[in-house]
Amino acid sequence: MAPAASAQSTNGTTPAVAANGSEAWTPSSWRSKPIKQQAVYPDPSAVGRATAELSRLPPIVHPHEIARLKASLRDVARGEAFLLQGGDCAELFDYCRADAVESKIKLLLQMSLVLVWGADKRVVRIGRMAGQYAKPRSSPTEKVADENGETHEVPSFRGDILNGYHLEDRALDPQRLVRAYHHSAATLNYVRASLAAGIADLHRPLNWSLGHVKDPQLKAKYTEAVNFLQDMLRFMHTVGADRSPKLDTVDLYTSHEGLLLEYEESLTRLMEKPVLPEEAAGKAAAAYGSTTNAPAAVEKEYYDTSAHFLWIGDRTRQVDGAHVEFFRGIANPIGIKVGPTTPTSDLLSLLRTLNPGLEEGKITLITRYGASRVRDLLPAHIRAVEGSEHRGRCIWQCDPMHGNTHATASGVKTRRFGDIFTELSETLRVHREEGSYLGGVHLELTGDAVTECLGGSEGLDEDDLSTNYTSFCDPRLNEKQALELAFLVADSYRQ
Ligand code: PEP
Ligand code: MN
Repeated sequence: MAPAASAQSTNGTTPAVAANGSEAWTPSSWRSKPIKQQAVYPDPSAVGRATAELSRLPPIVHPHEIARLKASLRDVARGEAFLLQGGDCAELFDYCRADAVESKIKLLLQMSLVLVWGADKRVVRIGRMAGQYAKPRSSPTEKVADENGETHEVPSFRGDILNGYHLEDRALDPQRLVRAYHHSAATLNYVRASLAAGIADLHRPLNWSLGHVKDPQLKAKYTEAVNFLQDMLRFMHTVGADRSPKLDTVDLYTSHEGLLLEYEESLTRLMEKPVLPEEAAGKAAAAYGSTTNAPAAVEKEYYDTSAHFLWIGDRTRQVDGAHVEFFRGIANPIGIKVGPTTPTSDLLSLLRTLNPGLEEGKITLITRYGASRVRDLLPAHIRAVEGSEHRGRCIWQCDPMHGNTHATASGVKTRRFGDIFTELSETLRVHREEGSYLGGVHLELTGDAVTECLGGSEGLDEDDLSTNYTSFCDPRLNEKQALELAFLVADSYRQ
């Protein structure tokens, strides 16, 4: 691991005691811990200027929204709802465009409609979007061909928040921290505006369209799900139960890997813990019965306001490392990637450090083993968690993407749809055998008709990959492949 980063705080917050009462935590206490994937900028004073600017800007998301997501994730942990999380591997600043944002929202909505129909449960949606700009890399350099076909060894592309994909933009540039903020804010603004304008209106699910999906079988299945929903809406109209504003819109939360801690620290703020209306009713009732007139004390917590949900990647989840230190102090719901290199003992240490209060739904365990290994490795992780004090507290989510990446003979990074499908079905089966609940899926997908993953009902083969391969990082499912997976989960619940 790299040595600890400078201990200087960039947002001048005062020290606080962590939720678990252990060592004092501050938004900058991660700086005294060993760190992996560290960004070493050539000019530290330029980083200071960028983070100072970020610290002055308003939060991108509000604690009230985070509290609502936490309430929904509690339902997922209890087996009463399902979590769908998806988006690009590496979001680019260039994806901050109306059409790209809309097609991603629509795909997530289509998938959730299929899941609602299949699993008969509410679906909680989180996009890997509006901030998924930092990428962990296995190697500091990579070989890239220029426009003349000449190969150069250059610093690896680490995501738009750090450097640019073009060969001349590979040096780390701190101003990109500020650009990331503005692109996140603009993306989320358009997500909120589209939802407010009724893009998700359940009365008009056919308006969500099926974009590039031509496959007649898939179209027929989707239409069956839509017809079911429309029958239900007709019934609700007949009994007068369809006037709820809830049917006109839905929630769509944002998430990204919390990798670049300079950025996350600058957007972490001590803010009032919101009281949701349903909780307020309970508090009012309790106060009514109390003998004092003292108003309830206002509780404050640290929120990372860069996104509603953040996760710790597979490469940065060292129990004593900087990332875990940062994450243990924030009130947001968080994810932990879990894979073949996660010892069972680490898993429990992580849960004890990150969720000492045993909050239900606070932690999502995002499992990613690979199709051929999931059956061997997942049961021990489930037994360790469900046999501990964290039983029933975590959400189990399957990421069938990251254990199934390989390169073709010509060096193109890809994934087989069959492997993704197998890991997801095996994961469902193992949870059923172990008596635990698979509460969600985590996918890399795009609403565009890309050709990045092999197979699916279109039967894409290696020769097809070059047709429309646009990912700058990992290969994503296209709209059709993503819907097929949603049907797999739906069907498994309908059996
Ligand atoms: C990712 O989610 O894009 C990623 C890098 O995953 P992991 O940390 O699981 O490898
Ligand atoms: Mn990825």
